[in-house]
Amino acid sequence: MKVLVLNCGSSSIRYKLFDMPEGQASTGGLLERIGESSSVLRHTSAGREVRREGRVPDHKEGLSWVVRALMDPEHGAIREPSEIDAVGHRVVHGGVRFTGSVLVTPEVLEAIREFSTLAPLHNPPNLIGIEAAGDLLPHAPQVAVFDTAFHGTMPRYAYLYAIPYEYYEKYHIRRYGFHGTSHRYVTLRAAQILGRPLEELRLITCHLGNGCSMAAVKGGRSVDTSMGFTPLEGLVMGTRSGDVDPAIIPFLGRREGLSADEVEKVLNRRSGLLGLSGISNDMREVERAAEGGDERAKLALEVFAYRVKKYIGAYIAVLGGLDALVFTAGIGENSYRMRERICEGLEVFGIALDHRRNRRTVGRREEDISREGSPVRVLVVPTDEELLIAEDTFDIVTKEGGWKG
Ligand code: AMP
Repeated sequence: MKVLVLNCGSSSIRYKLFDMPEGQASTGGLLERIGESSSVLRHTSAGREVRREGRVPDHKEGLSWVVRALMDPEHGAIREPSEIDAVGHRVVHGGVRFTGSVLVTPEVLEAIREFSTLAPLHNPPNLIGIEAAGDLLPHAPQVAVFDTAFHGTMPRYAYLYAIPYEYYEKYHIRRYGFHGTSHRYVTLRAAQILGRPLEELRLITCHLGNGCSMAAVKGGRSVDTSMGFTPLEGLVMGTRSGDVDPAIIPFLGRREGLSADEVEKVLNRRSGLLGLSGISNDMREVERAAEGGDERAKLALEVFAYRVKKYIGAYIAVLGGLDALVFTAGIGENSYRMRERICEGLEVFGIALDHRRNRRTVGRREEDISREGSPVRVLVVPTDEELLIAEDTFDIVTKEGGWKG
């Protein structure tokens, strides 16, 4: 079965075509700047990138570019659109309703539309992508895979904020958590790497990329996560502050003459590594500056690592112990220095790095970087959300989508 995985952003479409159930991705790419005067498609096939530029006014036209690239006699993988058997979509917010992936039906579409109030930047483009795929590939069943779904197993005491309960009832204000597909993927891989049943494992998964979040995973189920009502809560990120005292918001509003929306922008776009260092939101640049002696860059790294460390302590308490700590995403997979900073001083919890192994683990490579004999395994597991979306799509379409093969 050929499964097209789509991740539609407000002005972009990321795509990958998988052969399932083998899980092989033959081609993929990224179309950016949809709706602008000139859009760019970067299509990769057999390790080679081809580039195409032109005007793409909307996602429907964008998707037809993608399908044409997939049908290219030289760089494509199919001869006609009908060869795409199913489409899997990354959808950011599944609200209180979706705790797993689902076949897209008119009712599901309506629910995703309803949850746009909770994710106004993300759900609308996800919806447009589903509608465009429905128009262009009407024969192909579609599956929605939600970023929030994996955290749907959090207990009430973990997801409720201590604000008047009526706001939870009226507006569904609660913690949802995000990056769920990534946390689920590394959870499944960690159990395989450790060769132990998922049901008996207590894991802390750290997705440290431009956006950062952690999850406490007990027996394969997320029981807590650091992002909340929106992806702003929790860890220090590239440009996001993570946890702050909410009283800072009106304070800054008064002192700087900013509206609540403007302060929210400051917390989302001008904070985190960028705000602290004044240099960049990119970990590589902040690390380079810190090595060159820049004090603010050093401070940014310290605050970043300290916040992760605090959550590790909290989640060990939540889980009642720990079997493995898992690092993933751009920083988690590549920055041995940050992994070192985070794990420093955690021997008391049984977390100890094999420094040689840690230092040579960069790039997309799975590795156990813990010291021989230490009680907690520390793993680096490159995330692969697209593969998990393709797997969910394959499973659901073969079971419920009427696929004849
Ligand atoms: P992601 O959002 O998963 O693509 O991750 C992006 C983040 O990973 C950025 O902060 C990058 O600076 C960081 N990153 C990527 N490669 C490295 C590296 N070799 N060393 C340190 N940070 C890295």
